[in-house]
Amino acid sequence: MSTCVLCNEDVAQVVYKNQLFRIILPNESLYPGFVRLILNTHYKEMTDLSLSDANKVFSALLTIEKLVRQYLNPNKVNVASLGNVVPHLHWHIIPRFYNDAHYPNPIWGEKTNPQYKPPEILYNQVPRLALALATAFES
Ligand SMILES: [Zn+2]
Repeated sequence: MSTCVLCNEDVAQVVYKNQLFRIILPNESLYPGFVRLILNTHYKEMTDLSLSDANKVFSALLTIEKLVRQYLNPNKVNVASLGNVVPHLHWHIIPRFYNDAHYPNPIWGEKTNPQYKPPEILYNQVPRLALALATAFES
């Protein structure tokens, strides 16, 4: 599986890692506060996980969503698991705003507001979100 980019080390900031998964803050310039949860093992589908591990992942996703809401105050949170390009289980947790570059499309879809620049306050919240995530998962 050495060709799988998600089996290899991350270039993005890793805010937390345990035996099952890691949580990173990818540098998505249009979407500050974008969080990704990546399984450490190369599983393709959720049903490849044991129920116990699936429950741990779901619980982690709830924690991430809660903190994204708290720190970014988005109009909507998108939680997406696609894996069509990279079939290694991972989830995107994305704060969305009514005026963002793609709303109401998925962020991989057609742009609806190409002039959009996220407000500075969102970028300022990212280090706080990172700290909150690390604190929540390490406790
Ligand atoms: Zn992989």
